[in-house]
Amino acid sequence: MPAERDDIEAPVAVLVVAAGRGLRAGFDAPKQYRRLGGSPVLRQALTPFLAMPEIARIAIVIGAGDEARYADAVAGLSDERLTAPTLGGATRQDSVRLGLEALQSQGFRGTVLVHDAARPFLSEALARSAVAAVRPGTVAAIPVLPVTDTIKRLDEAGRIAETPPRDRLVSVQTPQAFAFEPLLSAHRQAAAEGRAGFTDDAALMEWAGHPVATFPGEPANMKLTHPEDFVRAEAPGSPLVVRVGTGYDVHAFGEGDHVWLGGVRIAHDRGVLAHSDGDVALHALTDALLATCGAGDIGDHFPPSDMQWKGAPSRIFLEHAAMIVREAGGTIMNADISLIAEAPKIGPHRQAMREKLSEILGISLDRCSVKATTNETIGFVGRREGIAAIATASVVFRGAD
Ligand code: MG
Repeated sequence: MPAERDDIEAPVAVLVVAAGRGLRAGFDAPKQYRRLGGSPVLRQALTPFLAMPEIARIAIVIGAGDEARYADAVAGLSDERLTAPTLGGATRQDSVRLGLEALQSQGFRGTVLVHDAARPFLSEALARSAVAAVRPGTVAAIPVLPVTDTIKRLDEAGRIAETPPRDRLVSVQTPQAFAFEPLLSAHRQAAAEGRAGFTDDAALMEWAGHPVATFPGEPANMKLTHPEDFVRAEAPGSPLVVRVGTGYDVHAFGEGDHVWLGGVRIAHDRGVLAHSDGDVALHALTDALLATCGAGDIGDHFPPSDMQWKGAPSRIFLEHAAMIVREAGGTIMNADISLIAEAPKIGPHRQAMREKLSEILGISLDRCSVKATTNETIGFVGRREGIAAIATASVVFRGAD
């Protein structure tokens, strides 16, 4: 459709950055591929641009290994402006540069809008504001919102160093709009000088000495970052419902040279008597998760009479409970385990257990807690007859119930 663009001084390209791993969102796939209202986030991030005839080209940077997810996200979008995806780099900054280089190799010149794939609520109006913001004398312009919270700057000790006046502070969104060549030059210069850590392209342009203009962003143009952002976005206006479950488990010590706790094998002068690997921490947490859906307990799902679970790694039970939660529409918010034992010492293994929980549940490490206490030598735990665990899990569901 080049004829329709004859009145436009410079062509406009969009570079959508979809190479991030999105780990804070706590899913097993990057958040930009997660479905929201039935459609992948990335696809929704592209939609306003596809509706704008003034956009000449849409380039996307994806992560290595995400090729199939990408193909699924854009399936059926037969738009010749959508070019083959470019593979990103280790950081967002690297990924943007690689995307710009790909546009350069296609001979592109003009205005480029850089947009985050995790912002699926961009309006055409805001995208048009971005296009209009780059004009003679303005090589960089970004959408901003006033901040409503008071913002403070900390010193290295975590104390307040400064309270900047709020009327001069803004938060920043995408799409950020740039004249193509200055942006590519700034990226190349930063790469050549080994300058990393720019969290947006405007910061890189500032570093390169270019003035950056602003235009009003839109509150709805939010970036999906945390699991609860997805829950909220799925059902705007409907309340979030948090459910909490608890679980408790005990196993007696027996012959052996190790125990499994929190998915970690720990050398010990005793083993535990159990049908499976006897991991009380994972068993208690499995029950806690099942409880958030009213889905019974571990024995209902994995009967001890069933020989297939003999010696089984307990992560299978926890993975199953997490799947039941997800199928019920829940998003796991956090998991907390208290281990009660005189021995073995838990402290040296606590971090490995948290990492195991994070991996099995697909949630970030700060949402996984493992604590330990002795039983002060009293009771069966105090007499070193066994080991116990108490677990709590919280899960958020959407909708009023
Ligand atoms: Mg058990």
